[in-house]
Amino acid sequence: MKGLESLGALKLPTKLEQWKLLKNEILQTITSKETGLNTVRIKSYIESLGLQAKLIIFIDSSDIKQINKIFEKFGFHFVFNFDDVGRYFGDIGIGIINRGIIDEFGVPFEDSNDLILFESFAIHESSHGTDEHNCNLNTPYKTSSGFITVNSTTGNESGNFIEEGFAEYTRKQYLKNNSFFAKNTAAENTYAFLNSKKQFVGIHTSRAGYGLELLCRNSPELWLKILEARKTKRAESELISYMEEKWPGLYEKLYTLPNTEAGFIEGLAIIKKILK
Ligand SMILES: [Zn+2]
Repeated sequence: MKGLESLGALKLPTKLEQWKLLKNEILQTITSKETGLNTVRIKSYIESLGLQAKLIIFIDSSDIKQINKIFEKFGFHFVFNFDDVGRYFGDIGIGIINRGIIDEFGVPFEDSNDLILFESFAIHESSHGTDEHNCNLNTPYKTSSGFITVNSTTGNESGNFIEEGFAEYTRKQYLKNNSFFAKNTAAENTYAFLNSKKQFVGIHTSRAGYGLELLCRNSPELWLKILEARKTKRAESELISYMEEKWPGLYEKLYTLPNTEAGFIEGLAIIKKILK
């Protein structure tokens, strides 16, 4: 039976084994750059919401090539860009935060902002990882899960506005909880950060965060239902029914918005209109 055994050893690893190998290689190769960050605070915050915190790795720009090289070995191309702030990889359960991003003047954002900002990006990516019932879409380079579903035929994603809104609003609440904002900061700017000229710079997903914040302020119960929806499919259905009753047609409208800047602008406008 020796022959058969050696044939068995030649079998290609299964997908699950491949994810494990990929994860191990990242963990063995990349050292998380955590100087100045309170990583315990990040984990405790996610857990204080009744959710599970996943592993977060902080990198600088010198790690990006290496990370892409590792992904490349497993067949995924150009996974992480130099201007990506962060990304959550559902299949391997790791969020990666890039501390090396620079502004349009070539100055690192780290030099212009309190470091808690990078903790808040970790909160954003951790939030994507809190989905406990819909978390393996086998699309690590297209990001995560949660309220996002992927059409298996076309590969198109839906639900990005709601998923990104959840991650951004959680990030904003983390900053607020840690008294990050000056008293007179305009609500929409609380999602932005500063460039080296002290101008606010936003990310397009923040509009979804602000949209969700407006809905939660209008109906505080909504936030609790969103948190529950991360845990079970049933709670997710209850969230959708709740929203349908409060704002008929809204969930479907937000769910089908494209994952683009224009889509997110439209989503925020729809919410503002419905709350008028
Ligand atoms: Zn996100």
